[in-house]
Amino acid sequence: MAGEPQADCLFCKIVSGEVPATVVRESETTVAFRDINPKAPTHVLVIPRAHYPDAASLAAAEPAVAADILREAAAVAAGDQVDATGYRIVFNTGAGAGQTVFHAHAHVLGGRGLEWPPG
Ligand code: 5GP
Ligand code: ZN
Repeated sequence: MAGEPQADCLFCKIVSGEVPATVVRESETTVAFRDINPKAPTHVLVIPRAHYPDAASLAAAEPAVAADILREAAAVAAGDQVDATGYRIVFNTGAGAGQTVFHAHAHVLGGRGLEWPPG
């Protein structure tokens, strides 16, 4: 069923606690944790507890949870005090755009200057 945990999904395992992560925020519908290979001083991933392969499929199936991700991303930025200097919320979608984990996630990046457009 759509949204059900997938046995072979790394981020479902982080949601369940089977794989440890440095969790910075949790909500009823989301978990936020630090990226294992940070690309900026603040690099946090915000994910839905439910499994959807990417942001578009999450937004189509559960738009309220997609909104929760954005709200939590803003709270992460405020918590790390990067909101005043600016931060970026990124949803890599598809292998060609650099998506490597096919459980929807927002990257929250901040704490350094960020080039535009990104590479
Ligand atoms: P993507 O490339 O799919 O947009 O982002 C996946 C992100 O997950 C990458 O930035 C990668 O560093 C991060 N990542 C991969 N494995 C783990 C892990 O086991 N723990 C944590 N905290 N992050 C991970
Ligand atoms: Zn998953």
